[in-house]
Amino acid sequence: MYADIIVDITLEKLNHTFQYAVPTDMEDRIAIGLLVTIPFGNRNVNGVVIGLSDEPKLEVSKIKPIKAISKEVPPNRDLVELASWMSDYFGSTMNQALKTTLPLRKKAKPKERKIVTLVSDTEYVNEYYNKLISRKNHSLGKERLLKELIAEKEIPWDVLIDKLHVTSENIRSLEKDRIVDISSVRVFRGAINIENSSDVKVELNKAQREACDIFKENRKNGIHKPYLLYGVTGSGKTEVYLNMIEDTLRMGKQAIVLIPEIALTYQTVMRFYNRFGDVVSFINSKMSEGERVDQLDRAVSGECKIMIGPRSALFTPFSNLGLIIVDEEHESSYKSEQAPRYHAVPTAIERARINNCDVVLGSATPSVETFYNAKSGNYIMLKLPGRVMDRSMAETEIIDLGKELRSGNRSMFSRRLRELMSDRLEKNEQIMLFLNRRGMMGSVSCRMCGTVLKCPHCDVPLSLHRDGKLHCHYCGTIVERPKACPKCQSVMIGTMKAGTESVEDNVKKLFPNARVLRMDADTTKGKGGHEKILSAFANDEADILIGTQMIVKGHDFPNVTLMGVLAADLSLNASNFRASENTFDLLVQAAGRSGRGEKRGNVVIQTYQPDHYCIESSSKQDYEGFYDSEVMFRRVGAYPPFGHLLKVLIECKNENRIEFFANNLAKFVKENLGEDDFFQKTKVLGPEDDYPKKVNDVYRKTLYLKDRHYDRLIKAKKLISDGFSQIDGNNYVNIWFDYDPL
Ligand code: ADP
Ligand code: ZN
Ligand code: ZN
Repeated sequence: MYADIIVDITLEKLNHTFQYAVPTDMEDRIAIGLLVTIPFGNRNVNGVVIGLSDEPKLEVSKIKPIKAISKEVPPNRDLVELASWMSDYFGSTMNQALKTTLPLRKKAKPKERKIVTLVSDTEYVNEYYNKLISRKNHSLGKERLLKELIAEKEIPWDVLIDKLHVTSENIRSLEKDRIVDISSVRVFRGAINIENSSDVKVELNKAQREACDIFKENRKNGIHKPYLLYGVTGSGKTEVYLNMIEDTLRMGKQAIVLIPEIALTYQTVMRFYNRFGDVVSFINSKMSEGERVDQLDRAVSGECKIMIGPRSALFTPFSNLGLIIVDEEHESSYKSEQAPRYHAVPTAIERARINNCDVVLGSATPSVETFYNAKSGNYIMLKLPGRVMDRSMAETEIIDLGKELRSGNRSMFSRRLRELMSDRLEKNEQIMLFLNRRGMMGSVSCRMCGTVLKCPHCDVPLSLHRDGKLHCHYCGTIVERPKACPKCQSVMIGTMKAGTESVEDNVKKLFPNARVLRMDADTTKGKGGHEKILSAFANDEADILIGTQMIVKGHDFPNVTLMGVLAADLSLNASNFRASENTFDLLVQAAGRSGRGEKRGNVVIQTYQPDHYCIESSSKQDYEGFYDSEVMFRRVGAYPPFGHLLKVLIECKNENRIEFFANNLAKFVKENLGEDDFFQKTKVLGPEDDYPKKVNDVYRKTLYLKDRHYDRLIKAKKLISDGFSQIDGNNYVNIWFDYDPL
């Protein structure tokens, strides 16, 4: 018996299988997907079995035997097949793809998980609670913590900190007062007390029932097409997921629920636990390797039947997968930044095909590709119109910043926004100010010659921070601010535009008594940086929260009744075909932050392009209006879903060598594609400098290939990687591929 093995070394040159002999005593244990140790060159390396046969491909005496089988990875043939598809579809080596679908299990000692349990003496607890809230300046974090514990009895420590924004001091203080016990369990087993579960099973409304009926009817008839569940936040999508999962478990199958990490809130996780109990597991990026392995092992053993998590949860090794749900399917975090640069949506659809199971994509603002596929019948559209609770939407106003300027207001706040801000401060309601895009802010340039001060290691402008120094946002370099222009020696050098710091300064000038918090990459550095700021804001320790993208998504602060978007259009100017889609999504999310409690909210969108379809439709939360305009541009430009891009990124430490290789590569591509009728319509664009042109002393250039047919781009990529070693200058460069970059 012989095994085809992918060696665990990532090199385009080694991107094929090697054959090894299976020793007789291993024959009954060998399987596709197993991790094995093999002799390679003069050392032993790991490899993954991806095929088995009786046919030797070489002279038998030359085939070396497998050394050992590693027991860490349970074999999973489907995930090997998925890896093979991913390596083709997203242009990575098979080894990289296998590492993603069958991550190596280092024998890390599983970390213990802390569980916080309320003591059983209800009277004592109630008395304590009443005493706490009767105190005037009591800790709101402690109040929130107690309220949740009274409802749930037991909650994991990390869920409390990450999702409920309470501090460890809050928990320790309750422990000291003998209100809670803190215990450790090795795995997340029985952590939730189901008898005590606060699950109220709701009666589905008409639209929800119809969606579930269509799904189940198709299942019965063996129809497995992808679904789009389209409905605004609060329309009851999660309730529909729960129902579909119930049906899946009833069939004896398992389910995967993908939720972007940032939206994986405490309430969401709890809804799944409350309905299904301890067959639910979740993983997130903060878990240690050991903890994650623990969760995956539970999936293999059958203890876990529902896995919730970010994109990597897609590779949970279930043996009888019945359903994959991708919630908020338009989120950019579903695309991986490392090879294989896969997107979870097409990958989920492919896994569903391999496993012959169902896949449901859910969103209020689907990606243009997904909505197009649903409208054209490639997917089945399930619509949930309206909100279950009929909570009214915030009142949204668009302010033309150009007009403000012309009428003499040169501040970064429009008069309307200022007026609303003082109104909210007076009423003790909270305000969020969202500054779109931070990288473009705070650069320093010479007023005389226009020279922009750049990082010595990266080709990006440095930004002036309040510490008086210049910071690079790409590599972290900090340099002193020069007294004169390095080029013309003029002393007229100064900052250009405002970042979050200067928003904060301006707010403090206007409202000296307001308590302000700022959340951006600087203030959230270090462990728990995010949590500290969010919990302070949740505890009403501040009136105004200023921040970048990171304040917009997923947070629920019921006392916020005003959201100010300071410069809505900055991200519209990004040179990327998804700029409008990303901006629309951000603005809709931002608007959704205001008025989530009882009181009605206001939203002010400040912009230089008040008539842009993206700004207009987002102010009305009109996704379909936005889609109709956007899809026209995509069609004309042959962008997804009407065409596809393959980005080839070249990296090299030497500027002349990268230039040399990039031109040779472009020539190679044009010549080879040109010879073949098949590629006639493939467009080759570039080479051009990537942005940033240089990062950490490495130069970067890109070549784009564009085609209406994805399969032609897959073939073109093969052509490039096969021909790579023949292109002059290849020794000094790295290249990698990215399909439909975000
Ligand atoms: P989405 O996932 O679309 O944001 P949810 O499923 O979370 O919507 O529903 C929003 C709220 O409405 C939740 O509190 C949920 O419990 C409640 N809800 C959903 N469906 C119903 C229903 N049919 N009857 C009553 N309440 C419902
Ligand atoms: Zn730098
Ligand atoms: Zn100058």
